[in-house]
Amino acid sequence: MKKSLAKKIRRVIPYTPGEQPKKDNIIKLNTNENPYPPAPGVVDAIAGLEASPAKLRLYPNPDATPLKSALARHFGMGLVKDNFFTGVGSDDVLAMAFLTFFNSDNPVLFPDITYSFYEVWADLFDIKVKRKPLDENFRIDHKHYLKKKKLGGIVIANPNAPTGLAEPVEFIKEVALAHPECVVIVDEAYVDFGGESCVALVNELPNLLVVQTFSKSRSLAGLRIGYAIGNTELIKAMEDVRYSYNSYTMNLPAQAIGAAVLDDNRYFAETVEKIVETREDAKRRLAELGFTFPDSKTNFIFAKHKSKDAEYIFEELKKKNIYVRHFNGERVRDYLRITIGTPDQMEALYSALGLILR
Ligand SMILES: *Cc1c(COP(=O)(O)O)cnc(C)c1O
Repeated sequence: MKKSLAKKIRRVIPYTPGEQPKKDNIIKLNTNENPYPPAPGVVDAIAGLEASPAKLRLYPNPDATPLKSALARHFGMGLVKDNFFTGVGSDDVLAMAFLTFFNSDNPVLFPDITYSFYEVWADLFDIKVKRKPLDENFRIDHKHYLKKKKLGGIVIANPNAPTGLAEPVEFIKEVALAHPECVVIVDEAYVDFGGESCVALVNELPNLLVVQTFSKSRSLAGLRIGYAIGNTELIKAMEDVRYSYNSYTMNLPAQAIGAAVLDDNRYFAETVEKIVETREDAKRRLAELGFTFPDSKTNFIFAKHKSKDAEYIFEELKKKNIYVRHFNGERVRDYLRITIGTPDQMEALYSALGLILR
């Protein structure tokens, strides 16, 4: 490529998503997907779309009103449709939030070990960042977030990924109160598996934005639906940015199917409960196999073996068609992030590990 041409191209180091292998018969515990199908109401919603494909002729509702209204009904708490922003997965929502709120010369604060997409967006949007190290137990050091220092923003994944550790709501509240000068984004991708949610605080704290997703606890990673909850002024600011970028982000099927899964609270509670039970069992079984791990409140466990190398275990599991996630970062390369699957999938994992670790 011509140098003058190359110079005009924006260069970024992209986020690397987990593998989605094409093979059948694999046990996929590498991207924190839900091992159970979505709520049965999804089938009817899809049938409704199939019955009238002509609906797809028209642009969808640009405000995603059906989905936002369903979210407002689902949460209650005095929240209204305009307390919600929806996007194509919470990755899209987080990217829009970074673009909207992190518009200052002061740095945006987040932990050194957290969702690695945060620094990719910061880089893409030219946002200054400050990473504060987690302590030796992978805990967030609260004092870093409570210091009276001018910041451009704060992002906290709660529970954190890939550590699985949760912080109390009280801490998030103190952070938002200590930093009224910037927006605090709380990424609650895993909150349904045992964390404490801050949603009830959004109308009390004008600088708090909570982000959640349908990808994990609602078994809809393939549909791509995420949302933010915040006071109406914050949400309006995000909508203005979105309408300046793509006014029709939420397609018609996503709006209809997303609203349908929210109706089934019982199915939701049952699948979450099954995953939590399997996770607690996994803590016992992995400990017996010689692993240590932070106390996960999510649908994954971040585990380190007492003697065998993580990359070795990762490769050996892959040979047995079991996929887990391994990250190469300095403080995390001794760990494997293992998504909680069905009890049968987990049994297969324990027997494979038994052979590998012999
Ligand atoms: C999975 C994940 C997301 C993104 O999920 P979407 O599928 O884009 O909704 C965001 N944050 C964290 C911490 C995650 O683990």
